[in-house]
Amino acid sequence: EKEKDEIPADMLKKTIEHPCYNCAGHKFARIHLPVAPACNVQCNYCVRKFDCPNESRPGVTSTILTPAEALERYKTVKEKLPNLTVAGIAGPGDSLAGNYPEVKKTLQLIREYDPDVTFCLSTNGLMLPFYAEELVKLGVSHVTVTMSAVDPSISGKIYKYIDYMGSRYEGEAAGAIMVSNQLSGLRILLAHGIICKVNIVTLKGINEEHIPQVVQACRDMGCYITNIMQLIPVKGSAFEELPMVSNKEIQSLRNSCNKIMRQMFHCKQCRADAVGTLDNDLSIDLGGFLDKDNI
Ligand code: SF4
Ligand code: SF4
Repeated sequence: EKEKDEIPADMLKKTIEHPCYNCAGHKFARIHLPVAPACNVQCNYCVRKFDCPNESRPGVTSTILTPAEALERYKTVKEKLPNLTVAGIAGPGDSLAGNYPEVKKTLQLIREYDPDVTFCLSTNGLMLPFYAEELVKLGVSHVTVTMSAVDPSISGKIYKYIDYMGSRYEGEAAGAIMVSNQLSGLRILLAHGIICKVNIVTLKGINEEHIPQVVQACRDMGCYITNIMQLIPVKGSAFEELPMVSNKEIQSLRNSCNKIMRQMFHCKQCRADAVGTLDNDLSIDLGGFLDKDNI
């Protein structure tokens, strides 16, 4: 586990003030900017008309923003919430798929406006080796990769297919490409001192026994935290019949993996347009506040 004194002071401050990397960070607010609807894979638990459940609550659809609209939303929220420390991109598809230009533009616009903001981004990891260095240059300090397996045959069961370099792959080939790109992407980020979180979706009968191995791999690489998540089955997805792992089972998995490395116990599976502190999501509570006409 990365000890606090191994992390440079500026990164440590950002991490402590990031509500998702630190349980004590709940007084700080974050905003997710939904600028990236495209995705390059099909996870078996995902219905693409909704937000990416790798980082969001399933069954919710966010209104897509342009980079200029995202900046306007950021400004509006920053004025209302002085405790806003983090701007994140969590899809609603994959941040590094077809909408990467919009992601990049959004981050550039917000950085010009607010030099102190912490940027975080989540991805399925497929394109991470190609973009990792650029993310570092853009000032992204916190990255979440959803990697629910490190074994290609298990990973291959999670994706219906992946689209990579102009071809479609399925089964173990898809799993092998995913695992290898997720791991090498993480390694590049870690080598640059980026704080990495790995989301692990617990899939009954598919990866639950394998999860400690995923956590071990994250620990060995030097990731900061892993977030073992519950699958909330979505109607119409290939895994809609998969039994849900109980809260109790998730907690006990987290407790046993906590002996391997730091665990997230407080993930709220937020929306891709979440705003506010983790305990108080203003995108829901304030209703019209975030309507496009209102930003
Ligand atoms: Fe859905 Fe996210 Fe998987 Fe893409 S990466 S298919 S948006 S869960
Ligand atoms: Fe943080 Fe979890 Fe919400 Fe992401 S989904 S912003 S990790 S609490």
